Amino acid sequence: MPHPSRSSRALARLALGLAIGPCLSGCGAGDEDERLNVLMVVIDTARADKFGSYGHSGGLTPRMDELAAQGATFERAVAHAPWTLPSTASLLSSLHPQEHGAGGFLDLEKLERGDSSGIGFRPLPDSVQTVTESFRASGWRTGAIVNVDFLDEGFGLTQGIDDLDARWYESNQEVRSATQTTDKALDWLDDHADEPFFLLTHYFDAHAVYSPPEEYRQRFAAPQDQTDSNFVFGTRAHMLMLRAGKLALDPDLIRRAELLYEAELAYVDAEVGRLLDGVAERGLSDDTLVVLTADHGEEFLDHGGFEHGHSLYDELISVPLIFRLPGLVRPGVRPAGTAALVDVAPTLCELAGVPTPEAFVGRSLTSALRGEQLAERPVLAHGNFWGQPLASWESAGFKLILSPGGDGQELVELFDMQQDPGEERNLAGERPELLKKLRDEYEAVREHLARRAESGEVQLSDELRDRLQALGYLGGAPVGEEDEE
Ligand SMILES: [Zn+2]
Repeated sequence: MPHPSRSSRALARLALGLAIGPCLSGCGAGDEDERLNVLMVVIDTARADKFGSYGHSGGLTPRMDELAAQGATFERAVAHAPWTLPSTASLLSSLHPQEHGAGGFLDLEKLERGDSSGIGFRPLPDSVQTVTESFRASGWRTGAIVNVDFLDEGFGLTQGIDDLDARWYESNQEVRSATQTTDKALDWLDDHADEPFFLLTHYFDAHAVYSPPEEYRQRFAAPQDQTDSNFVFGTRAHMLMLRAGKLALDPDLIRRAELLYEAELAYVDAEVGRLLDGVAERGLSDDTLVVLTADHGEEFLDHGGFEHGHSLYDELISVPLIFRLPGLVRPGVRPAGTAALVDVAPTLCELAGVPTPEAFVGRSLTSALRGEQLAERPVLAHGNFWGQPLASWESAGFKLILSPGGDGQELVELFDMQQDPGEERNLAGERPELLKKLRDEYEAVREHLARRAESGEVQLSDELRDRLQALGYLGGAPVGEEDEE
């Protein structure tokens, strides 16, 4: 193996991390041989509550639960959009969808009328700096194995990737399997394990269409679907019918679909496990920071809907977030509170000693990875694949969701995320003062975002900067947190 002395460095990191905190002098920078590798695993469409490490009892994710036990698992992590393109762009750029600009929508009614303004997708602009660009600029070899068009070059998310291996098909019915994806990742590691690397590995299997391999179908599907491999669900034809109101959401049918989805997730879990085994077999575990997350979840009638892209409830934006790194990440730690996907890139930069771009708006989670308390911060989410954009603002344990109605009537919802994590009881009517507080906070942020969109860059008045900083929206310490670090 290329780095026989590496495991002793994990112990050295442990001592350093416990004594002085993470990488204050850049524990990853310097000698090439000392640098940390990063393996970022993104499971498309993996909702957090299907993981054993997030409370599911179905035994779907034993290998990823093992990873969670070896590392840190954020009790709640939130994506900033309910679909792939804007959410993954936020993960890689540490910017919110309104800031990085990648996203778009599909308006079926307009398209049916032949109105071409019914479709509009925007790539991630070149001017946005991604975490992979930062690592590459600091001398890391960067690779990505991705399986959907939104993550391919055309949408700008592969900025900073030296070796891109993208495979996608016009129809979601054909997918590069998790097995092939893991094989590709291991091949890439064989070629690059002797240099510091950052590898993004994306699994698409759990995304509709749900069509698990036979072994997983037999273990997890509904009885009538265990042998009948003709039952697949979630084709694009299904989705278009659904969104056009032409497919009834029969609960029994959706439950069968959900079990197929679970079978797919279990299959991906086994392949993620094989990838991690491959990392260990190559002697890389001690020097490879593993971060595992998802771009968004999936709805199975939780709020009367199905699939994703259409709401900002937690079944669509609550995702798993797990870090493992011997020495700097305390095994089994479970930070309470809410982390956000914009926080991932700054965390990777700090742990690896790569300069954090000034534009990043997320915060580093490194102190929480050592077991310290995670300070509360508001979380902003935005977007809707299927029409008018939605926005949510979560602050001090409450989530505000603003949905423009088709009739010009805005739907306003307010949920107590501690008492009512299923977001079933809308408090907007009974808590007017709280509602006003969150709306005012959100409006301040929206104003900032609108200016940014106009000018193409952040130009804040001192007053607005102070306000946003106080809300914890901008990088830097929010009010009441100044004493930390
Ligand atoms: Zn996705």
